[in-house]
Amino acid sequence: MATERTLSIIKPDGVQKQVIGKILTRFEDAGLRIVAAKMMQLDKNLAGSFYAVHKERPFYNDLVTYMTSGPVFVSVLEGADAVNKNRELMGATNPKEAKPGTIRADFADSIEANTVHGSDSLENARNEVAFFFPDL
Ligand code: ATP
Ligand code: MG
Repeated sequence: MATERTLSIIKPDGVQKQVIGKILTRFEDAGLRIVAAKMMQLDKNLAGSFYAVHKERPFYNDLVTYMTSGPVFVSVLEGADAVNKNRELMGATNPKEAKPGTIRADFADSIEANTVHGSDSLENARNEVAFFFPDL
């Protein structure tokens, strides 16, 4: 399986709940290496352009407001099949539908405050990694 890089964001609810360490442990235990990381406060501009693909969706404004409501922890995960592996560890977008033992099933409150973001394809992963870590 090819070595890939993918972007992970621990969203404001995950930082607020103090589960950064627990989430990073899940990544590491699954064989994903954390090759870059930073804690940051997104502003409307940055969150809006990051989620620009959802601009026409009814939840876009709320999503941007939510993602700017507190600090986030952004990291780059590297390993075999990293994009899919991270998505499996995260679970479904709606925590009510997420498989038991996934990050969202265990920590998320709602479809909006769903604790983590992960790139959903290799192409998006490349773009998202470059968006947050242009020097990597
Ligand atoms: P992410 O992109 O954050 O990893 P995802 O790929 O599982 O999540 P997307 O469809 O890309 O889901 O939606 C992006 C984010 O927008 C979701 O994680 C969630 O926070 C929010 N979102 C998605 N659908 C809804 C909805 N119906 N109502 C409110 N918020 C939503
Ligand atoms: Mg997505």
